[in-house]
Amino acid sequence: MSIADNVRQVKEKIAAAALACGRSPEDIILVGATKMNDAARVREAVEAGLRYCGENRVQELTEKNAQGAYEGSHLHFIGHLQKNKVKQVVGTAELIHSVDSVELAEAINRRAGALGIVQDILLEVNIGGEASKSGFTPGELRPAIDSISTMENLRVCGLMAIPPVCEAPEENRHYFSEMRKLYIDIGEEKKYNNVIMGILSMGMSADYEVAISEGASMVRVGTGIFGARNYGTAK
Ligand SMILES: *Cc1c(COP(=O)(O)O)cnc(C)c1O
Repeated sequence: MSIADNVRQVKEKIAAAALACGRSPEDIILVGATKMNDAARVREAVEAGLRYCGENRVQELTEKNAQGAYEGSHLHFIGHLQKNKVKQVVGTAELIHSVDSVELAEAINRRAGALGIVQDILLEVNIGGEASKSGFTPGELRPAIDSISTMENLRVCGLMAIPPVCEAPEENRHYFSEMRKLYIDIGEEKKYNNVIMGILSMGMSADYEVAISEGASMVRVGTGIFGARNYGTAK
């Protein structure tokens, strides 16, 4: 199947998963995880109707952006972001999904302030409590929001999670459900004016349909669109 076929097929599956749980397909945004796919392949996806691209690495984002890869789509940053690289991402990516520390939020806030903009971000939650993954634990989330909500050049738009790698999609259902609870609880607190819980980014190729049934409003799909990545030849 071509990239264009895959884009159409993933969109159909998203729509079916939404309808199956009484949600509207328009309420779910597909973000194509474009890592390790060159500008030509990204263009193919965008031309087939991919409206959101999510990049993981700053260098890839900068290179492909200069090549016009994302034209006609929204650009998001979804990977681990180092503080010394925020300059290349803030203001270029509309949404940064992966804010995983208060220090990173501070660095983004400073850069956004220098540019005179408000940067939209999501807070990454380490919902599986994995030592190998970044993100706030559920317990760290509220204190982090207390600090981040004072940063004037940031807007917290929601939460993001990458649950543990699963053998079967259903295995992660309880993590998605815990994420939805956190998202709803924090949204209902309404005590901060720059925190608006409107986006719940969770679900990847192996489990996005389950994530949708648990309330995901953004799913990040790489393999399902671009095919398997060849890590063996990765730089
Ligand atoms: C690579 C990646 C994805 C997509 O993973 P697939 O399993 O290929 O769909 C989603 N989110 C993040 C943060 C990623 O790095």
